[in-house]
Amino acid sequence: MKSLKIFVHRDPQFGKCPGCNEIGTLHRSRARSMKEQIIKKLTFFSLFRCRTCGWRGFRSTFSFTQQSVKSIILYLAMILATALIIRLVLTKFIIR
Ligand SMILES: [Zn+2]
Repeated sequence: MKSLKIFVHRDPQFGKCPGCNEIGTLHRSRARSMKEQIIKKLTFFSLFRCRTCGWRGFRSTFSFTQQSVKSIILYLAMILATALIIRLVLTKFIIR
């Protein structure tokens, strides 16, 4: 059975810069405003800056793969099946 990981950790520092498409030029940047701090704390996004072109912005530190979608569907199916079983048990044995 394949891994059911939904999110795969990824470090944008080894990825491409959205500004100049150079690989490995991004490095972590400090949040300047309250809004940036909030985004940084609440989401999977981190601030990055490019050494070459000066691009600055948020990059996700997690990637969402096609396998993730399959895992989510599988989890939802399991939740639904469990809910149906519980409902069946409740209506058969408890509620009369
Ligand atoms: Zn760049």
